[in-house]
Amino acid sequence: MIDNMKLVPIDQWGLTDKSHLLISGPCSAETPEQVMQTAKDLVKHAPEVKVFRAGIWKPRTRPNNFEGIGIEGLSWLQQVKQETGLLTSVEVANANHVYEALKHGIDILWVGARTTVNPFSVQDIANALRGVDVPVLVKNPINPDLQLWLGAIERIHQAGITRLGAIHRGFSSGQNGRFRNAPVWKLAIELKRILPDLPIICDPSHICGKRDLLLEVSQKALDLAMDGLMIESHPNPDEAWSDKDQQVTPVALSEILHELKVRKPEGVDPDTVDFLSMYRDEIDSIDLEILDTIARRGKVVEKIAQYKKEHKMTILQVNRWDELLKDRLAVAKKLGLDDKFSKELYQQIHLMSIRIQTKVMNEQKNNKTVNP
Ligand code: PEP
Ligand code: MN
Repeated sequence: MIDNMKLVPIDQWGLTDKSHLLISGPCSAETPEQVMQTAKDLVKHAPEVKVFRAGIWKPRTRPNNFEGIGIEGLSWLQQVKQETGLLTSVEVANANHVYEALKHGIDILWVGARTTVNPFSVQDIANALRGVDVPVLVKNPINPDLQLWLGAIERIHQAGITRLGAIHRGFSSGQNGRFRNAPVWKLAIELKRILPDLPIICDPSHICGKRDLLLEVSQKALDLAMDGLMIESHPNPDEAWSDKDQQVTPVALSEILHELKVRKPEGVDPDTVDFLSMYRDEIDSIDLEILDTIARRGKVVEKIAQYKKEHKMTILQVNRWDELLKDRLAVAKKLGLDDKFSKELYQQIHLMSIRIQTKVMNEQKNNKTVNP
């Protein structure tokens, strides 16, 4: 855990009176009319949204696509704030973006996924933020590297930013899976474990890449106790100049928001505490049994390694591994366990077995006895 990070809890950012921070608006600011129309439709149909987003400078994967309207779009956002009262947010990718956004009174800045991967750029942004009190959200890097994500958060924090949050927008795999950028929830959970006071917002739009998955991913984010959602919206998504497949109209956004079930980390009923602690005791003792069993398996593996060495046998006998895996997967299936999970579990157990055996073999080479 990083203890010396001073972070302001999101409910004290002064941005929303709701339990979750909801940010919405178009992927890109295109025209003054499109920006204002989106904002007004959001206020009318999805009043839960308190922060308006719009990309002004767009990091496009390939050149010759629309790369953002640039500085003039910032005054359209000022207009939005004036006319609707919505707070405004933009992506900043360098020091100049920070200066311009602040000059135009933008309320929240976010660092995009393609910027988080580059410590030079993040430091450049952090230097520009020194002495400024503005909320900053740091998107995860495009590759699932927690250290890189943490490093960017630390750089911004060291510049004095305490209203600081993270955005989980999924990770690029280069493959055509179900998601445009597959979520890696365990990484976001680990970030929360390391920095419990750091709010984490989910960006289902860039995770999904298409509208029909938005509800599912948003619900999952809420069930994982994330602190808010950033969802792209556009008055006419099919005509959007960027990310058209993933944007929704403000009306469709409001339908998604109404379908979401908001649950609390601590239940409303005082009895839940007793029930939970009973089940948690049970889980604690099952976990001890699991660890004890794995450790006992390791001891047997050491004996096998000793025997193989004495009989000059290789560590891996591929037929045995193949049979063992098939057998265990069949048992696991009968027990109702998920195939993918069982396979990954056994691959890990097998790797541990190989590691133990390699250690035994090497120790024997040096004529040392095995340490049980
Ligand atoms: C965006 O929010 O429009 C954007 C470009 O996102 P990301 O940095 O997650 O790709
Ligand atoms: Mn986008």
